[in-house]
Formats: sequence, C-alpha cells, structure tokens
Amino acid sequence: MNIDLENLTIAKARKALGDGEFSALDLARSYLAEIEKKDKDIHAYLEVFSDVEEQAKEADKKIKSGNKGALLGIPMAIKDNILIKDRKVSSASKILENYVAPYDATAIEKLKEAGAIFLGRVNMDEFAMGASTENSAFGVTKNPCDLSRVSGGSSGGAAAAVSANMALVALGSDTGGSVRQPASFCGVIGFKPTYGSVSRYGLMAMGSSLDVIGVLAKNIKDVETVFSVIKGKDSFDSTSIDVSLEYPVKKKNKIADLTDFIKEVGQGGVDKAVMENYAKSMQKFKSLGYEIVKLKTNISALRYALATYYIIMPAEVSTNLARFDSIRYGFYKDGKGNLISDYKETRGAGFGKEARRRILLGTYVLSAGYYDAYYGKATAVRGLIKKTFSDIFKEVDFVATPTAPTPAFKIGEKTSDPVQMYLADIFTVTANMAGIPAISLPSGFAEVDGKKLPIGFQLMVPSTEDGSLFKTVEDFMLK
Ligand code: GLN
Repeated sequence: MNIDLENLTIAKARKALGDGEFSALDLARSYLAEIEKKDKDIHAYLEVFSDVEEQAKEADKKIKSGNKGALLGIPMAIKDNILIKDRKVSSASKILENYVAPYDATAIEKLKEAGAIFLGRVNMDEFAMGASTENSAFGVTKNPCDLSRVSGGSSGGAAAAVSANMALVALGSDTGGSVRQPASFCGVIGFKPTYGSVSRYGLMAMGSSLDVIGVLAKNIKDVETVFSVIKGKDSFDSTSIDVSLEYPVKKKNKIADLTDFIKEVGQGGVDKAVMENYAKSMQKFKSLGYEIVKLKTNISALRYALATYYIIMPAEVSTNLARFDSIRYGFYKDGKGNLISDYKETRGAGFGKEARRRILLGTYVLSAGYYDAYYGKATAVRGLIKKTFSDIFKEVDFVATPTAPTPAFKIGEKTSDPVQMYLADIFTVTANMAGIPAISLPSGFAEVDGKKLPIGFQLMVPSTEDGSLFKTVEDFMLK
C-alpha cells in the first residue's frame, strides 16, 4: 500500500480511514516501513513497540464499529520521559534504563481514549537536559536534513521522527525550548502550550515550574487536534488549568518587532541567515495585514531570562532528581560499603555528565548562604519577566523572535562548551519563565555546505490564549 506520508495530515488520514481508502494497519505498516528504512541512520527511536500492528488492528475494529475518536488510528511517537503504562520509559538515562511505567501519564490516557497508536518512544537529552540529544545515554539523534548535524534537543527524537515521516505527530516536553528548538532544526512545527494547560502527571519532572508537554507536527491543524485532546485540568496536577481554544476576537493584530533586542542579546551569535529570515517572516506578516510594532515598553528584564533560567531550572532539577537514590528506581551500583557509598556509586555511574553538572549547580544555588543571592534573586527577576510580558501584551498581541540563533549545528560542535550549548535557548526560555504559549514555525532555510538547513520563527502570545496562535499560524503557513 502506497500512502503519501509526506503530505499526510490527521484530517486526511481520519477521512481515508473512515472511507476505507486504507486501514489503520496499512497506515501503521507504512510508518513502520519508513522507520525500518531510515532510523538506522537517524536514530530517532529508542524503542519501536512490538505491538504496533495489534494496536492498529484494534483501531480498525473500532473504526468498523463506528467509533469516531479524534485520533483513531493515528500513529504517534512519544518522548521517552512520558509514561505509558507497562512500557519502558527511561528519560534516555542509564539510571532508568529498564524502568517500566506503572501508570499512564494523563496526556497518554487521553490519547488512548482518542484512539492514537503509539509507534514507540523517541530519543532525547537525558532527563530533557540539553539542546542536541547528545546528552542521551543511548546515542545521538541525527538531523534528517543533514546527518552530520544534531536534531536539536531535548525532544530531538520527536522532531526527527516527524520530519522524516517516521511518525505523523509526536509528543515532546518543553522546559526551556525543548519542543521548539528541535522543531526549528528539523523543519517542523513545535508548540509549547501555556504552563499547566496539559497535565504534568506522568511526565518525568525536570524543572516543575517550567515543564509542559508539547506537540510536534508538520501541520498546524494537527497540532491543534492533538492539543485539544491532551489539554485540560487534572486532579493529579494541582498546577493544571483549562484553556479555551476559541480564537479571541482581536481589534488589532499587532506583532512586536524585536530586531534590535535580538541583536543585542544574541551578542553577535545570531546567524546572518537567521536574521534575514526573521525580517522576511515579519514582512510576510505585514503583507497579511498584521501591524509590525516597535515596543515602547522597557524590555530590558528579558535580557536576564537565560541567566535566571540556569539558576531556577537546576535548582528544581537537583530537587526532582533526588529521588533517583539507588533504592527506589532502576539502576543500582553496589558501593561495597554503606548506604552513602551505594548512593554515590549509583548516581555517579547512572547519571551522565550534564545531569550531574546541573544537580551540583542546583544544590549549590539552593544551599544555605547562597539561596538568597542566587535562587531568591532569580525568582525576583522571573517576576519582572512576567510583568514585562504583561506590559508588552498591552501594546501588542504577538511577540516574534527567531526560535534559535542558528540552524542545526554539527554533531560534537558544542559538546565541550556547555555555555555555548545553553545559548541555543536564548530566545525560547523567556516563554517558559513567563509560562506563556509559544510556537516555532518552519520559516525557511539556510544554505550551508550545499545542504538546506531549516530555520524556525517563534511566536508568543499571552497566557491561556493558545487558541490565537493556531489561527495566526494557519494564515502564515498557508499563504
Ligand atoms: N535546552 C534547554 C536545557 O538544556 C531546554 C531543555 C528543555 O526544554 N527540556 O535546559
């Protein structure tokens, strides 16, 4: 069966499945064949589930019986930090290598109810810490557009799988850019919803005040469909909230132009091609009738977003990862002495370098004597960042930046310099600090070494106004 996976959308697939043009089994087999063909080189999947065909047969039965689930028969890839009951889930860490999820994440439960098919779990930076998937304990995911380059991170496997037609859509998680940055590197859409709009129950915690489950897809309608299924208040996550998908009727369609700010915070590190693409995308919005606005609001607090993120996030990481103590979960290395030596050996061998770096950093900024100077101050700056956005959104409806300062970089290029790696998130972390929705759209390419490397354009809107992104993006992508 020859299905055009490149141009497939959820709506097209649902229609074809309903009309009997192809079955869920045909569709699942097409994706499995694609994975078989390409994933040896790309390595997006840590595991392709052995029961995909059974899941598809189940979906076919439901289709025959008239079930109309929004995702019935739709093959998805799931980031390896989201729990699917009775399946392995490792956060790409050795410490959880053979850990089996005892329950479904709320988002997964909702996807199951809607009839989705899970193809497998996809690669990521260990515990979602990184911007290239090079921190995975199980090998790097290569960029389908150029195999000598990274797919981005931490949801690099999800982005590469969607980009290479090895899944129709994927779930990732975004703490500082982990859905949007890999989406921009691989040329797909990456959506980070409002903080709390998707339950964190069953998402392995990285920075709990920043983490949110997001969606990667090629088509904005697909992003909207998946988000409408997984969103919603959940009694298992007290920070969860309901957001509406209604497109708020706007009197204006104003977009903030941050060109000067981008140049300043980028400190010369923003690629020329990225700046040109940003200008071109703004022009396109202008031609669609949007008003491009230079802000009057003082946005200098946004300069400190990355520095503040690298205090708050490790503080939360050090707290969240304390549970991997050699006793409760997964991997255990005998310290041949007392409990403390077991603990040291297990965490020393079980965690990779970046995880250990952040645990140390986080423990330091939370320790007595430094708490006020670092964590306390960072929390205050975070308040200022939120306030800045609420002022900005009195002036405009959208804030636009490039998603990342560069297109995909070479494998190994930044591994020896963590600060260079952290700078990959200079434009994405602000949305997490403020809790607002943000999306990365494929907006063009940079020609490098004869290869076309995708570039992403980021739009941010006020908290809970996720719905306004979908309509706007549709305008942008279709015209
Ligand atoms: N790259 C960022 C980091 O390393 C963001 C990660 C994420 O969003 N999970 O922290």
